[in-house]
Amino acid sequence: MKFISTKGDSKPVSFSEAVLKGLAPDGGLYVPDKWPRLDDEFINNIHQKSLQEIGFEVSRLFVDELDDNSLREVIDGAMNFDAPLVSIEDRTHILELFHGPTLAFKDFGARFMSRIFSAFREDKEQDIVILAATSGDTGSAVAQGFLGVEGIKVCLLYPSGKVSRLQEQQLTTAGQNVTALEVNGTFDDCQKMVKQAFSDAELNRQLILSSANSINIARLVPQSFYYLYALKQLGESVGAPIFCVPSGNFGNLTAGLMAHKIGMPATGFIAATNVNDVVPEYLETGSFNPRPSERTISNAMDVGNPSNFSRIEYLFGNNHETIQKHIWGASFSDEQTRQAIQEVKKETGYLLDPHTAVGYLAVKKYRKNAAGYFSESGETPFVILSTAHPAKFGDVIEPATGEEVPIPDRLAESLKKEKQSIKLENDFGHLKQLLMQRY
Ligand SMILES: *Cc1c(COP(=O)(O)O)cnc(C)c1O
Repeated sequence: MKFISTKGDSKPVSFSEAVLKGLAPDGGLYVPDKWPRLDDEFINNIHQKSLQEIGFEVSRLFVDELDDNSLREVIDGAMNFDAPLVSIEDRTHILELFHGPTLAFKDFGARFMSRIFSAFREDKEQDIVILAATSGDTGSAVAQGFLGVEGIKVCLLYPSGKVSRLQEQQLTTAGQNVTALEVNGTFDDCQKMVKQAFSDAELNRQLILSSANSINIARLVPQSFYYLYALKQLGESVGAPIFCVPSGNFGNLTAGLMAHKIGMPATGFIAATNVNDVVPEYLETGSFNPRPSERTISNAMDVGNPSNFSRIEYLFGNNHETIQKHIWGASFSDEQTRQAIQEVKKETGYLLDPHTAVGYLAVKKYRKNAAGYFSESGETPFVILSTAHPAKFGDVIEPATGEEVPIPDRLAESLKKEKQSIKLENDFGHLKQLLMQRY
């Protein structure tokens, strides 16, 4: 299977090339040139499959350069924690994606990716430098996912003062092969500098640069597994679900669309955002207007120019109407988010993190104001992807619920360590110089 650029001006490459390059040379994102298809039999028997078996079947379709054993090793090593589906209200289910080491769904992508990099790199002499911009959770997942992986150096760019204390601790205390760069700017500035680095000829002659952002196709493949795993857990005969995805860069939602494209039944997708609502606005009006991001309490979704939007357009032939048929969008304020956390805790006992709360609000709004948009039946289940553990956002949740959020051990560990970061101006020249000197 080959991968082509969404911009169409780069030559088709293998999966390993697409993964190691991250971004296509023409600045586009890699996408499969043809869509493979899961066996109907596999889908029909999904109820008997484990997360690892699903992961193997799905990635087998995209990755043809590893033998079955190597691929199984990658999957089994990466997916060594569960993604349980929890029912909180009638027809409303939460897919908990925060049971990995950094308590956010990004562990799926980062752990798969680090192992795939390792598998593809075996006979290379030079180190690979992974560059990633993070709005918070990517950084910690990438730091943990790649920590100590041989032949790989990791450089994380994060906006100074714009991630939570917990997130900052997680991404600045890894050590070893992981370096945190604290940028005097916003997440969008970080993302822009990373993109510039990939298109800088001199830098790319000296270093093997790769990305761990959701622009990398290796992040999206593993994120498609758990959509199918949700289907498995829903049990038989409830019908194809509507998936609701709290979104920022739209990698997670794109992974769901990919799963659907290769044969996973879905009735529709809901794109839930905070006030950074570029995509919900596009869905409604047909015009895409990227703009600087605004800070919110669901900060991992503070993205003003979602990088995976071009993949979504590609998936649906750049047709606004087709996109509208598959995706419905809604955005919510911090005030609404706080209220949702409080209300759900009070009524069901379930504690939502601020990102998941945005997803909850979107399902609620859909059921109240847009029911029937996807021609669903009265039984169609809603699956909200829960992207982070509430303990990561105690500073937001505690004032809303009045209760302390217990911190799991694996998170408490990183709080004890000392922060280590290098300060960086919002200036590509500065980043380039640092990379050339360091690696
Ligand atoms: C990254 C992140 C998101 C947004 O995911 P995208 O794939 O960028 O849309 C949502 N919630 C949390 C907790 C995250 O870390």
